[in-house]
Amino acid sequence: MPAPRPAPTVATPRVMGPTAGAFYLAGGGSALAVVLGSPFPSASAQAQLGALATTALLAGAALLLRGHLLPRWAFHVVVGLGTALITLAVPHCPSIATALAISTVYLFVAVDVVFFFTWRQSLAHLTALAAAAAGVLGDRPGMTPGVAVALGAVLVVVSTVVGILVQRASSAGRDSLTGLANRRGFDDALDGALAVAERTGVPLSAALLDVDHFKRVNDRSGHAAGDDLLRAVGEECRRALPPGAVLARYGGDEFAVLLPGAAGPAALEAVERLRTAGSRAGLSCGVAELLPGESGADLMRRADSALYAAKAAGRGRARLADDASAVLARDLADALAAGDVRAWFQPIVDLADGAVVGVEALARWTHPVRGQVPPLEFVHAAETTGLVRELGQAVLADACRGALAVRRAWDRDLVLTVNVSGRELACRDYPERVLEVLAETGFPAASLVLEVTESVVDASGQAALTALRALRAHGIGVAIDDFGTGYSAFSRLDTLPADYLKLDAVFTADITTSPRRAGMLEALLSLSDALGLRVIAEGVETPEQARLLTGMGCPLAQGWLFSRPVPPHELAARVPGRPAGRAAAPREHQRTGAA
Ligand code: C2E
Ligand code: CA
Ligand code: CA
Repeated sequence: MPAPRPAPTVATPRVMGPTAGAFYLAGGGSALAVVLGSPFPSASAQAQLGALATTALLAGAALLLRGHLLPRWAFHVVVGLGTALITLAVPHCPSIATALAISTVYLFVAVDVVFFFTWRQSLAHLTALAAAAAGVLGDRPGMTPGVAVALGAVLVVVSTVVGILVQRASSAGRDSLTGLANRRGFDDALDGALAVAERTGVPLSAALLDVDHFKRVNDRSGHAAGDDLLRAVGEECRRALPPGAVLARYGGDEFAVLLPGAAGPAALEAVERLRTAGSRAGLSCGVAELLPGESGADLMRRADSALYAAKAAGRGRARLADDASAVLARDLADALAAGDVRAWFQPIVDLADGAVVGVEALARWTHPVRGQVPPLEFVHAAETTGLVRELGQAVLADACRGALAVRRAWDRDLVLTVNVSGRELACRDYPERVLEVLAETGFPAASLVLEVTESVVDASGQAALTALRALRAHGIGVAIDDFGTGYSAFSRLDTLPADYLKLDAVFTADITTSPRRAGMLEALLSLSDALGLRVIAEGVETPEQARLLTGMGCPLAQGWLFSRPVPPHELAARVPGRPAGRAAAPREHQRTGAA
């Protein structure tokens, strides 16, 4: 009994269809040669063999053109039909020579069988084939035991050799631990599915599944326990797999699923079933649906981003990559390449005398169809698609050039503040890239301030703190952005390496109506002073807010009262406000001593 063997991974409908088609055409052609090139005792036998040959030729053409669209099970019918056609053809052959010639076509069927199916299924098909051949040839005059053995031997040897070779070829795409497809097998299946999706327009989705806290299992219970867990998870998922889906071990503790025919929501549902089918471990899953024109790598990258989001949201859940972001990100990539994402400036003023002492760079992008896109939207799109490095670098460089132009036009120093996203800050080479931009543009490090939020620093962990400290060592300042929203904590103020504290607009808006808020602000101002942090109040819209802030001793502010964000050349053309007096030149960033 041959060893159990899964159906070969190389045998996908994309390969099976044309293979079966070619064999049908060759078989039909052989029969036609017999019909046209042999003397027949009766015209009706000749006509019937001709009809069978034509059937085989038509089936071959159909398989060649459309066979790749057939479901796997349909190939059992294809193979069975092949056996039936040959078995019907042989009795019409006028001589033993022509009967043997047609019988060699059984070989085509045998090769199909071992190529397409598991050993067990192959054995069933081959047994039926051998019985049919024996039945139809056995009592023919001129048939001897020697000929039967020779014919049988050729059949057995060819099908065994082809079966083994196919198995060899397939094992390259298989993971030895779980028996599932490996990454290579998955990529092959993905290529095939992409071609089908492109041709037919049928949806295609992919998912990445990650075993939660796998490292902990490995560390605590050893690698054997880890392997057991992976095998169990693979098996549980395989059982819950919808028909037509491909499951693979993608690497480490990550599995991948290919879902041909499933649009995003249906794919999410299917993956949710896989996730809840497993009892052995929690799974985090990211799902993405193929977008028009997208490559397999793009699709998997978006599934990976969705997986990241699922993990960030607390693991043990499935997330669907959002298409809107992906579409926007593609346009954003073009805009970045064309230099269409620009830095606009909102002035930061000294409340004591109204002089502009700095500018905050705010990214601006006018989409060719949508018009102005809110920066929060395209920053999010960039973060979820790996574009954030390019975006950050483009805005920083443009901001440095713009700020230099305003400084030259006004003939005074100005601080430039630039927003930094969390994913950007977590990049290993972030500090080097900032320094590169400064070197390229010639903007002085001592006049640059990077704005980060507390939550960004917390989420990015130690890497973010290290990057900020490295940048401060070069004289670059750090501002804590949006303070007073979320879980801003006073206690964090002395541990963050910062020079400025930016008070969120929501906080500013309340000070004129809430005496408690006003009291908190006064306390915060004196605390910041003690810590060497300069406070910038954001979102100042009314003279009353400005008056109150000035009265409390808030040093700096920005908001629509002073100016909306404007392009650098527009700011450069303005009269710079009060001449550079005592407060116009920015102070060097003060050190909090908390680096
Ligand atoms: P943010 O850093 O808090 O920026 C301040 C936002 O408040 C800006 O919105 C600004 O236009 C708006 N603003 C200014 N003065 C007033 C005012 O008086 N009243 C009100 N209601 N709003 C005011 P914007 O430009 O839409 O930017 C939104 C957010 O997008 C920014 O919030 C920042 O988090 C992010 N962002 C903008 N540019 C970049 C960038 O280059 N990189 C990154 N990572 N994020 C950016
Ligand atoms: Ca900001
Ligand atoms: Ca802010």
